[in-house]
Amino acid sequence: MTDRYAVIGNPIAQSKSPLIHGMYAEVTGQDIEYTKIEGPLGGFKAAVDAFRAAGGRGLNITAPFKLDAFAYATEHSERARLAGAVNAMKFEGDRVMAENFDGVGLVRDVVHNLGCALAGKRVLVLGAGGATRGALLPFLAEKPAALFIANRTVAKAGELAAAVAGQGAVGFGDYADLEGRQFDIVFNATSASLRAELPPVPASVFASSELAYELAYGKGLTPFLRLAQNAGVKQLADGVGMLAEQAAEAFEWWRGMRPDTRAVIEKLTVPLV
Ligand code: NDP
Repeated sequence: MTDRYAVIGNPIAQSKSPLIHGMYAEVTGQDIEYTKIEGPLGGFKAAVDAFRAAGGRGLNITAPFKLDAFAYATEHSERARLAGAVNAMKFEGDRVMAENFDGVGLVRDVVHNLGCALAGKRVLVLGAGGATRGALLPFLAEKPAALFIANRTVAKAGELAAAVAGQGAVGFGDYADLEGRQFDIVFNATSASLRAELPPVPASVFASSELAYELAYGKGLTPFLRLAQNAGVKQLADGVGMLAEQAAEAFEWWRGMRPDTRAVIEKLTVPLV
């Protein structure tokens, strides 16, 4: 019988996951079915129970269900525990294993695809939401020289820094604290770009930056990327590679083999203009 997987979210029509996993199944010769589930708001548990009862083997989870998935799972990876959010689940009998691959997908894109090491670098992350939370442990594992989280709501940045206190030094503050500071790599992990807004980051942070990375994808040159470009940053990237890499991590976790991500990235890339 063909193994069944799906992505669950609400809304879900926009999801690229079926396309991505379909391409991965084709290149690896895996016989899987991968569909979309529009989970009813407040009805995550019933929807997942039904999917499992029908033989479902694993799920990707997207907004707004990443916290529901955390509560639903019986076993959490350390990454998922720290993130407090889950973007992939694997079902084996009564066991519900939970992972969060967003951060490792991001690091793999930066280091492997873009060829930009994080080790020894001064790294700035804008935003302190779910994406930043998921990225912190994978970032620290790369041993950056410094990691700083800037957020509008500074207390949220402080909570994240405290949560990883034993794993490495993480600074935090608000945007005003960035005046006069420079970073080698700057990540925009705010959701501002989804509304074509710019977080109030001073252009001076880019004075010696080698990479500006926008986690949102498919938006072309966002206000953040335009600011970085105007400040002279040579390498700009959006989150399409992160999306492809987190999916590849989930695929490998489920199927035991890692697909090449290049064709997916090429297909989904929107020019940064
Ligand atoms: P959350 O809603 O969890 O967090 C949003 C963050 O953005 C908060 O820190 C919020 O600040 C900040 N923010 C929102 N608007 C503004 C603004 N106008 N100015 C300054 N700060 C702002 O979002 P996620 O962490 O889930 O997602 C963040 C981004 O990452 C999104 O663009 C999302 O699309 C992208 N993403 C990409 C993925 C990929 O595979 N490429 C995967 C997951 C996410 P405050 O706390 O003060 O409200």
